[in-house]
Amino acid sequence: VKRAFDVIVVGGGAAGAPLAARLSDAGRRVLVLEAGPAPRSLEEYPPDILDAGSLRAADPGHPQNWAFPAELAEGRPYSIARGRILGGSTAVNAGYFMRARRADFDQWEIVGGPEWSYDACLPGLRVLEADVQYGADAALHGAHGPMTVTRPSLGGAAHPATHAFSAAAAAAGIPYETDKNGEQRPGWGPLPMNVRGSVRWNTALAYLLPRRKRPELVVRGDATVQRVVIDRGRAVGVEVRTPDGIAVMQAGEIVLAAGGIQTPALLLRSGIGPAAALRSVGVEVVADSPGVGTGWSDHPQVSLEWLPRDDAHLGRRHRAPDGRSGDTIDGGPVVEGVLNLRSGSAEVEVLPLLKPTSELLGGDAAGGREAGTPPLALLVGLQNPEARGRIRLVSADPDVPVKIDYDYLSAERDRERMRAAVRLAGELATSAAFAEVAQTVLIEQEVLEDDGALDAWIRAHLGTALHLSGSARFGGVVDDGAVADPHGRVHGVTGLRIADLSLLPTVPSRGPANTAVLIGERLAALMESEA
Ligand SMILES: Cc1cc2nc3c(=O)[nH]c(=O)nc-3n(C[C@H](O)[C@H](O)[C@H](O)COP(=O)(O)OP(=O)(O)OC[C@H]3O[C@@H](n4cnc5c(N)ncnc54)[C@H](O)[C@@H]3O)c2cc1C
Repeated sequence: VKRAFDVIVVGGGAAGAPLAARLSDAGRRVLVLEAGPAPRSLEEYPPDILDAGSLRAADPGHPQNWAFPAELAEGRPYSIARGRILGGSTAVNAGYFMRARRADFDQWEIVGGPEWSYDACLPGLRVLEADVQYGADAALHGAHGPMTVTRPSLGGAAHPATHAFSAAAAAAGIPYETDKNGEQRPGWGPLPMNVRGSVRWNTALAYLLPRRKRPELVVRGDATVQRVVIDRGRAVGVEVRTPDGIAVMQAGEIVLAAGGIQTPALLLRSGIGPAAALRSVGVEVVADSPGVGTGWSDHPQVSLEWLPRDDAHLGRRHRAPDGRSGDTIDGGPVVEGVLNLRSGSAEVEVLPLLKPTSELLGGDAAGGREAGTPPLALLVGLQNPEARGRIRLVSADPDVPVKIDYDYLSAERDRERMRAAVRLAGELATSAAFAEVAQTVLIEQEVLEDDGALDAWIRAHLGTALHLSGSARFGGVVDDGAVADPHGRVHGVTGLRIADLSLLPTVPSRGPANTAVLIGERLAALMESEA
């Protein structure tokens, strides 16, 4: 059969966009199917998607947010934001763009072999970036790649809260980590971000728009894939819903890059998953693959809020590094620095946000705006949780959402680590140096000191960093739960591959956006190596 396309990439997000671009560079005919809109120029993107200083598209009611219902722990429902537009979650996220650590790659190498070692992936990390500050360091960095990486606080006008947190970290003897994407000792340092000017530089702007005129790279928006069409063990196409109806589109190979939730959901709906569970919802089993939707990880997170001293609000007075007036809260970055530190057995991350959550999200969340100075928050994350989540089909109907259970805080070790994380953040927030900007920290000393009270506080404030990874992981022969091989080829079906964070056996110990882009780059290289 002569088909119009060599490859269909399902999802034009963090991993799908770079994958499609690189396959096209190598001469393949590629069709990208994206469920959300597919703007054809920067100007066609909605302003709140482009504004790196806002998180409005992550509000549950925003049309570019999938807003998947989930349960973080028993009795803790939560709406999981994911981008639904070309660029995927990189079009709606907070824009912090940190590489996974060497130790993360060491773990993946054990499971996935030499192709996932740090040394094998470093060239990919270099080519994906244009690092504004460290691009000249060619051993470690790239200066000419599609993803602009910059550190806003180095622009010379760091926010007062960034200064104060930095001073608090220094007073506590925490190392200063100048390049968070290098190999220094973890500590406090300037946050690398994928922003260009004030634009959140999503992967579609970076990779797809510059190649938009190529006839053999076709991007279709408003095209939602419902399932993979499999004929006698071979994936031959996808069933797609568009405004014109439902159609089957064919290609030589199908690659799923629909993200950590939708990729396993598509596998399950296509009959690839735990056989008994598939049968119980009336899906015909194509390949019994017990690991689909299981064993994934994410970063539990809580907000530790604090009230600034200055009634006029620190955020409002801030003058952005480019000299624009800081009269409005849109005038500067969401966050400028990050702390990564081990406390006991906990890998802790603290992000001092520079704008109140209510104003970042807008919409309903902004309801409290009139009620005095809104608090700012330290986002406190646990980067090495033991919790493993599960995604299940409730129905074969593609319109019925999957069931997502995080199982956070059920392991005693995670509760202990979360306590260590909040105590570390609490110590810095209540330090003399941070008192320069903070009037009150909204957690009581007695709560910080008592394990039971702190556990209850953490449960009540529980959130997630939205970094879901490993829901259809690669693995060696010893892993019964491995869904694919290290090249992303799905076990039990030919012509079908996975190319997004679903593949990673464990969540990176940093935010995963950079690693998702790397996966796109890496999978393209691995596919070419097979050709
Ligand atoms: C609000 C928010 C803030 C975040 N902040 C950060 C951060 O600051 N730093 C960081 O490192 N990480 C952050 N993350 C996480 C990071 O952005 C994601 O982990 C990463 O983008 C995931 O990449 P992906 O390619 O797996 O999926 P995505 O980037 O989500 O891409 C999946 C794409 O597939 C499309 N799609 C899904 N299903 C279908 C279907 N059936 N048919 C067709 N298309 C489909 C989607 O619309 C989407 O475009 C954040 C995430 C969110 C939601």
